[in-house]
Amino acid sequence: MSIADCALNTAVRGPWGMMQARRVCLFLLIAALAVTAACSVNPVTGKRELTLVSEASEIQMGVQNYLPMQQSQGGQYDIDPVLTEYVASVGNRLAAVSDRRLPYEFVVLNNSVPNAWALPGGKIAINRGILTELNSEAELAAVLAHEIVHAAARHSAKRMERSMLLQGVVLATAVATSDSDYGNFAVGGASVATQMLNQSYGRGDELESDKYGMLYMSRAGYDPQGAVRLQKTFVRLSDGQSTGWLTGLFASHPPSEERVRANIEMAATLPPGGETGEDRFRAAMAKTTAAGPAYEAYDEGRKALADEKPDRAIEQANKGISMLPEEANFYALRGDARILNKQYDMALTNFNSAIRRRDNFFYYYLQRGLIQEELGHDDLAETDLETSITMLPTAAAHYALGNITARSGNKAAAIEHYTLVAKGQGEIAQSANMALVKLDLADNPAKYLLKRCDPDSSGKLVVSVKNNTSLAITGVRIAVQYTDNTGIQRRIDRSISGSIQPGQVASVATGLGPYTAGSQCPATVTAARVAE
Ligand SMILES: [Zn+2]
Repeated sequence: MSIADCALNTAVRGPWGMMQARRVCLFLLIAALAVTAACSVNPVTGKRELTLVSEASEIQMGVQNYLPMQQSQGGQYDIDPVLTEYVASVGNRLAAVSDRRLPYEFVVLNNSVPNAWALPGGKIAINRGILTELNSEAELAAVLAHEIVHAAARHSAKRMERSMLLQGVVLATAVATSDSDYGNFAVGGASVATQMLNQSYGRGDELESDKYGMLYMSRAGYDPQGAVRLQKTFVRLSDGQSTGWLTGLFASHPPSEERVRANIEMAATLPPGGETGEDRFRAAMAKTTAAGPAYEAYDEGRKALADEKPDRAIEQANKGISMLPEEANFYALRGDARILNKQYDMALTNFNSAIRRRDNFFYYYLQRGLIQEELGHDDLAETDLETSITMLPTAAAHYALGNITARSGNKAAAIEHYTLVAKGQGEIAQSANMALVKLDLADNPAKYLLKRCDPDSSGKLVVSVKNNTSLAITGVRIAVQYTDNTGIQRRIDRSISGSIQPGQVASVATGLGPYTAGSQCPATVTAARVAE
């Protein structure tokens, strides 16, 4: 989409008025990001290029999205803070020799999917599931240097720009979790960002990140052959086509024989030798390597739960707990299985155990809040759901908060929560939409009934209304302020008898005229209610 296309989109209004021009426009995004088009030199490649997003905006995007993105991908792997420190030290060593000063940060996420990502502004994350596939510090350096280049050479910023242009602000729905990916829970900006993770970088960006990543490895004293070995491993694993790999790193950074060849050629131009750091890597990974079987049991359990086999899931959770009792996720898995069994008291105990072990992960608060609501404890539910939203705004939390605030009589708050969810897609958006209509229709009928005005065959005004909701609506009243040729103003009120089904149109003749097609529509919808 171009700026011109976008302008067109807002200018062209459907026959049912403004409501159809709902596409979020580039202009809004530009305003939000304080974007300025400028010609500048890419700090990594030295090429001249057009930039839309200023460096300050890049950094701001990264900072704003870093925590919610981490949450949506399983949260930090905090049972082994020494490993995170180690990964950050390798990352910082590479960042120090990169071609662009950015506020780089590196975290390890508690996620078995092999993946790594970079946000604009140098905010980088690497999953536990990729670390377990590596054999040396040089290979780790290859992954991190590659991500550093994505940030430094503005690939991430460009991708984010593209993603925003194509999708606008998409609000995702809360659906059942698969593996440890919570991305589709997010709403608002966080959901745009998480969807971006699954989009592929271009072939050119990948080659560029490999090339300059190897240069940074060499500058930092690492053996650039680490990148060759890494790429060979990736190609071998992608042949295996395990789903984790396909949805993870390979989706965003597709491996190829071409990349292997290019890495071999690049290595030949760099000084040979350098550190591989195999022993250091092995030592840093000791705890995580030992925890491997516990996480395998957990991942098995998540799959069992997705297949609606709660007993098998509990079995696997217990296995994980016996091997690694400090891992909160295992208790959460047990809790999720108990939710499926409708054993809410037991599920509550499980999520209490999870939160005692990790108090900074949205999912535990979301689930505990939903359990509390189920148990009739609206106050406790509200506290937990609000806590979860501060970490990652989700459709599930907003919908439940909509129900809770509606029950307590706080209509304005309920409307706010439902509106946010209704903008998304899927079943929960439909439910939110219905709840919203029920709460708000009588107060704001014009929001849900779209009007249009047409002349009949004798040039008199006919007003039509379209039911833009998924509920039948009745009691519709329309007011028309009509000024005739002599300048005399008349107001008439009309009722539409019967009910209007979802998506249907009802028309009423006013007898007022003359009315010219396309001129201003002088009608207002003044009353309506949901049909019983
Ligand atoms: Zn990449």
